[in-house]
Amino acid sequence: MSKKIVAIDMDDTICHLIPKALYYHNAQYPSLQLMMEQVTSFDLSSIWHPECTEEAFFGRPGLYEELDIFDEYTVEEIRKMTAKYDVIVITAARPASVPEKWNWMQTHLPFIPYENFFVARRKYLVGFDLLIDDGPHNVTAAREAGKKTILIPRPWNAHIQHQYQLKNTWQGMSDLVDQMLEAEE
Ligand SMILES: [Mg+2]
Repeated sequence: MSKKIVAIDMDDTICHLIPKALYYHNAQYPSLQLMMEQVTSFDLSSIWHPECTEEAFFGRPGLYEELDIFDEYTVEEIRKMTAKYDVIVITAARPASVPEKWNWMQTHLPFIPYENFFVARRKYLVGFDLLIDDGPHNVTAAREAGKKTILIPRPWNAHIQHQYQLKNTWQGMSDLVDQMLEAEE
């Protein structure tokens, strides 16, 4: 039997994008200090500074290479999963940020090979068995396609948290994945 496929999102699932993007926003616009709690959707245009743009906020050169790992357990839990599952990392990357993201992967998760690095916005088209993600649209579409999901609880997915399996730390993530995929059989 072939290994089950566990798909893992990057931004705000294995690394912290929004906190770093907010940091740069707040440094550039001291008069408007945004906080995580205010980010209740991926459309930040109504809360960021009037002079800020999508490109400035999400496209800052080098941004994706300097993101912090999600927590101290992330790397080991993903490594553990690779022994049992076909682990793919799947990110809805801006085209210009792909090299930065791959560099980040090589720095933090060098055991994930290039062929397991997927750039995709329409993640539901990929044939994974379980998805770990913070994006409401991603977990919703995955569930509709009959896949298992684990939602990383963040302010922008508060409205759907009651419907999903949540995990706000990577500690014990591989055990949870085992339970959820074994329960299927
Ligand atoms: Mg994400």
